[in-house]
Amino acid sequence: MQNFNYYLPTKILHGEGIVLQNSQEFARYGKKALIVTGKNSAKQSGALSNVLTAFEQIEMEYLLFDQVENNPSLENVTLGGEIARRWNPDFILGIGGGSPLDAAKAIAVLATNAIPAIDLFKNTYANQPLPILAIPTTAGTGSEATPYSVLTIPEAETKKGFGGAALFPKVAFLDNQYTASLPLAVTVDTAVDALSHLVEAYLSRRASDASDLFAGQGIQLWKNCIAPLQAGELSADVRDALLIASTLGGIAISHTGTTFVHALGYPLTYYHGIPHGQANGLIMGEFLRYTHTVAPNRVNNVLQWIELPDVDSFLHLMQGFFRNKLQLTADQVKAYALTASQTKNAGYSLGNVTAEVCDQVLSSSFLKG
Ligand code: NAP
Ligand code: ZN
Repeated sequence: MQNFNYYLPTKILHGEGIVLQNSQEFARYGKKALIVTGKNSAKQSGALSNVLTAFEQIEMEYLLFDQVENNPSLENVTLGGEIARRWNPDFILGIGGGSPLDAAKAIAVLATNAIPAIDLFKNTYANQPLPILAIPTTAGTGSEATPYSVLTIPEAETKKGFGGAALFPKVAFLDNQYTASLPLAVTVDTAVDALSHLVEAYLSRRASDASDLFAGQGIQLWKNCIAPLQAGELSADVRDALLIASTLGGIAISHTGTTFVHALGYPLTYYHGIPHGQANGLIMGEFLRYTHTVAPNRVNNVLQWIELPDVDSFLHLMQGFFRNKLQLTADQVKAYALTASQTKNAGYSLGNVTAEVCDQVLSSSFLKG
């Protein structure tokens, strides 16, 4: 018998023009909004312009914090938190890829709790965070439907997630038009992150009939986007499918967490600047090879949904998306593998994921020589 909890408090509104059609959704959360975004994404995607039109209709006061950096650091969200405490908004609206959405969640906590940002990882704070609303402009992290926020900790030389039920966005507005301005390389990186969430959720020891439903459907939607991603021809329908697959991935990992793929990917981003989704994509093939030794049927289901005959074909698919130039030394592999094997994510993986397993997967993917 399988025991599980299913909880998804995020209201998901999907469709072209969804922000302009739902200005009253914002009004439900108050009269003052802090908009949290990166330097370009909200403007380039057109999301900010639609939000400001919607805000005008409902006479919403707002302040724009557009300084979220990629892979936001503790310092970055500390600044946002200070601004939020001074301005005292009723809610936080995150617009952007995973970086601004994750920063929005951290800032929502810091807005009501004057704590050092490092304490976010304790996952307990005296006051409830402000409500979070989210508009994704990438189709990748699914952060608009997860209770997680991933931040960079320079002192620990890595990235780490924190979270809790209060961090689920109250409303997620999904409009594929906002992903049209994404450069192709970012579209591919983020699409592979979405696939990674779906696959890791399905190949998690915390997977349930509920999470499998989202993961399986998401992988099948994603499969239909492979040829357009390879050709770089992304119609609105394809971008829409990627956006939905990404949100389904977020819903799935909200219930399962990720696996050692994400744990091994973080140092590749931190030390080597490999974008998050690409890092996962370059690890996923060897992850499937390992997981096939402990759960062949589930890996075969994944391959069947993607319509690939075997793990090697999956590796080739990923290699076709990313020209892997990263070569690691044996010492680097050892260090990253040890850290990854000690994470919660490693414990959520199927099998017994030791430092040796992580070492094997990373060596096969990146070892020099
Ligand atoms: P991102 O770091 O948010 O954005 C990547 C780049 O794309 C940025 O330069 C961004 O510009 C730009 N961009 C975003 N949307 C655009 C658009 N529509 N048009 C033009 N440019 C656009 O990338 P991401 O992959 O979505 O997020 C990665 C972060 O999410 C990582 O920190 C990762 O660890 C985290 N993550 C979180 C979860 C979760 O559950 N919370 C899950 C997986 C990953 P700006 O500089 O203007 O932003
Ligand atoms: Zn991810």
